[in-house]
Amino acid sequence: IGQSLEERCNRILRDMEGSLTARDRVGIQDFVLLDAYTSESAVLDNLRKRFNENLIYTYIGTLLVSVNPYKELGIYTKKQMDIYMGVNFFELPPHIYALADNVYRTMLTETNNHFILISGESGAGKTEASKKILQFYAVSCPSTKLLDNVRDRLLLSNPVLEAFGNAKTLKNDNSSRFGKYMDIQFDHMGGAVGGHILSYLLEKSRVVHQNHGERSFHIFYQLVEGGEEDLLRWLGLERNCQRYSYLVQGECAKVSSVNDKSDWKTVRKALSVIEFSESNIESLFAIIASVLHLGNATFVADSQGYATLNNSPEIHWLSKLLGIPAQVIQVGLTHRKIEARSEEVLSPFTVDQAVYAKDALAKAIYGRTFTWLVNELNESLANKDSSRKTVIGLLDIYGFEVFSVNSFEQFCINYCNEKLQQLFIQLTLKSEQEEYEMEGIEWESVPYFNNKIICDLVEEKFKGIISVLDEECLRPGEATDMTFLEKLEEKMGGHPHFVTHKLADQKTRKTLERGDFRLLHYAGEVTYCVVATQFKSSLVGLTEILMSKEPWYVRCMKPNEGKQPGLFDDVLVRHQVKYLGLMEHLRVRRAGFAYRRRYEIFLQRYKPLCPDTWPNWKGTAAEGVECLIKHLGYKPDEYKMGRTKIFIRHPRTLFATEDAFEVC
Ligand code: ADP
Ligand code: MG
Repeated sequence: IGQSLEERCNRILRDMEGSLTARDRVGIQDFVLLDAYTSESAVLDNLRKRFNENLIYTYIGTLLVSVNPYKELGIYTKKQMDIYMGVNFFELPPHIYALADNVYRTMLTETNNHFILISGESGAGKTEASKKILQFYAVSCPSTKLLDNVRDRLLLSNPVLEAFGNAKTLKNDNSSRFGKYMDIQFDHMGGAVGGHILSYLLEKSRVVHQNHGERSFHIFYQLVEGGEEDLLRWLGLERNCQRYSYLVQGECAKVSSVNDKSDWKTVRKALSVIEFSESNIESLFAIIASVLHLGNATFVADSQGYATLNNSPEIHWLSKLLGIPAQVIQVGLTHRKIEARSEEVLSPFTVDQAVYAKDALAKAIYGRTFTWLVNELNESLANKDSSRKTVIGLLDIYGFEVFSVNSFEQFCINYCNEKLQQLFIQLTLKSEQEEYEMEGIEWESVPYFNNKIICDLVEEKFKGIISVLDEECLRPGEATDMTFLEKLEEKMGGHPHFVTHKLADQKTRKTLERGDFRLLHYAGEVTYCVVATQFKSSLVGLTEILMSKEPWYVRCMKPNEGKQPGLFDDVLVRHQVKYLGLMEHLRVRRAGFAYRRRYEIFLQRYKPLCPDTWPNWKGTAAEGVECLIKHLGYKPDEYKMGRTKIFIRHPRTLFATEDAFEVC
């Protein structure tokens, strides 16, 4: 008030200038604001600018894009959490805490269920993001003695799951080798009262084989390096990873960034807080040790060329730890049971077959132990009281993957992504439409690519790729990769998203091998080699669970392949912009109204901007808002007035209002 008009104007001009140059330097915090929004290059430029300023988060509306900094930024402190708690989403710079807080507040005010889908390729920062969200809730939710107990279990379930489900890969020293969906349950006061974990697609093959420079699951190394003397003695293990064939396939049992000894202590402590009984813990490690013993069992050919077990100490330990007579193990590992005319006959294995069977057994044991572990965790996280709860789900999923040879695992992962993309489109458009109808606003249809056609190609009953595969699997001995491919050609021929060597035109044919088929996914083309593994859908029910909840998205990206801080590889990031579906998301967002706010809240915040509404508005909130935006000079196509909310098409409008608010 004491300032002269001139001073005041100068200050406003200076602020504007400051914020303009700042924007130029640090980029724009919401992609919806980019003018050339349809261009991938503009998106890339903005990401690069921000990354170079250590600003790893950017929004597309309420979707959060995150670029892995590969260094500590000091932005996950308690102080930062406090700053983001209970603040409007767009008032502070983008942050994972802003998203977490927004989801939480929405859940509390609307008493409905939500999920946060975290996607991105290996090493992009998905697991870290989900941990940050969980930690935010652990700190920000109401606290009582009982609730703190639940909170500790929720937090400690992580190191346990990571020990058994994560491993060092070339891309990530702590790579999750399973998909994870975790529900956090809240009571009506917002206290975290329970949780539930769903795991899928555990990479069991890692137990018996690792590529060069990779390891098996952490728990094996933790046990051998950190296990107490008498525990190891009881398990028949030596403190030397080199002794175990299953641990040295990748020739890197030691990893500089991983401390197996101290991680072992963390896991042991977590297991006791989660209240695993001592006898359960003993059985758990007996089974883990038995996998290592199994790995050391070797076979030699007898005079007829059949497999016999070469060394007995392993069998002794297996028998002791699994509680199965040595004789049964011996016969089981070297024979197959076949049924011939209602009779069971034992047919001996060759050495190769026996090795294959041994590995299959090790994988099965580990896979089932993992499932058991998840069940136990769920038992411990379960909330027994039946009062109404709302949930926030966290889904940490592998991204769309394209390799030079795309196997069945890739097919599953990419199919899963295709489904999630479809889910995103359905949910976003559906919820938009519902809200517009409720608010009495005319629905303008949004042009978008509906990938249902590709999902159907994969999953449709009797006609889809999976059902053809199922059929072929019912003809053991007769079905081959080639008959499968022929069947596919017969059924899918003419489908615009399905191509094989035979069906392709001249030009495309040159790029396809005879045994391949190619799918034109929403994120790009992928060529698969024909697949003879039995299909196991671990995704059953997941989409149903998600369909009933309100979606939020975190898209994680990797700035470079070398896990290096400060290095932004344009080609790599552009590729991820494409397959994470960012452009698609941007298009859907831009087509509708980016922001909406209840009249009361909007008026409460911005009424200082208009002399007629400040300090006390006498009419209804809607009239007040009308008066306010007239004063602010909103153009008619920038907003719509609904029954209870104002809808703002472009976040630019809201940001301008917010800027004006700050200046005043
Ligand atoms: P993903 O689950 O996508 O495979 P992770 O979440 O395990 O990837 O992240 C891989 C590594 O990248 C982490 O171990 C950590 O070193 C680094 N990282 C990820 N996110 C961040 C972050 N927000 N800040 C600093 N480092 C990070
Ligand atoms: Mg992970």
